[in-house]
Amino acid sequence: MITDDLQRRGIGMTSQRTRERLIQRLYEEGLSNAHVLEVIRRTPRHLFVDEALAHRAYEDTALPIGHNQTISQPFMVARMTELLLAGGPLDKVMEIGTGSGYQTAVLSQLVERVFSVERIQPLQDRAKERLLELNLRNVVFRWGDGWEGWPALAPYNGIIVTAAAAQVPQALLDQLAPGGRLVIPVGSGDEQQLMLIVREGAGFTRQVLDSVRFVPLLSGTVF
Ligand code: SAH
Repeated sequence: MITDDLQRRGIGMTSQRTRERLIQRLYEEGLSNAHVLEVIRRTPRHLFVDEALAHRAYEDTALPIGHNQTISQPFMVARMTELLLAGGPLDKVMEIGTGSGYQTAVLSQLVERVFSVERIQPLQDRAKERLLELNLRNVVFRWGDGWEGWPALAPYNGIIVTAAAAQVPQALLDQLAPGGRLVIPVGSGDEQQLMLIVREGAGFTRQVLDSVRFVPLLSGTVF
């Protein structure tokens, strides 16, 4: 639970109003999971971007976080989290693409445990610090290539990927538990679709959802 003090650290009351407006807007755009909206309301997104950009943290937009990457748009964080949770509560969730750690922080307040994989070490180090500052301790991090997932700790009840994959990584399908849900943007450039894949019986069901725009899921690691 993020305390009131942490929620407001380094931010004036004007921004408190901007935050409430963001939640109102997400609600009007059709996001209806009250738990997810409440967690977004109390998660201080301004602590996940550079101080110079903090005044824009409660706009519904992606923002640069360095290394050519972006913190995801709040709408997309809420949308993907809702899709992941729509089948009921989740115990083990793997996230590919820690980035700033914002989506990680949101997830960690809604599921039992988060396993977060990032290929760019300095981004992951900073994200780790932020989650500790916010006292969110049910997250473990791995510096590695998300195309491979995190096989040692598989299977996962949920997997969320926050970068667009040219095709669905086989390793992630392999690491889904029975009934497990994978939310992933698939495609490249302007042609990307959000997909929900569920492991059912011997196979998988696939649903193609919104058109989206994410940075690409790359290969290898960077330090
Ligand atoms: N959820 C993050 C989004 C960051 S953007 C946030 O809101 O801040 C996508 C992230 O995916 C970037 O940090 C990028 O480095 C990471 N990424 C891209 N390809 C990856 C891969 N193969 N394995 C792990 N992380 C990857």
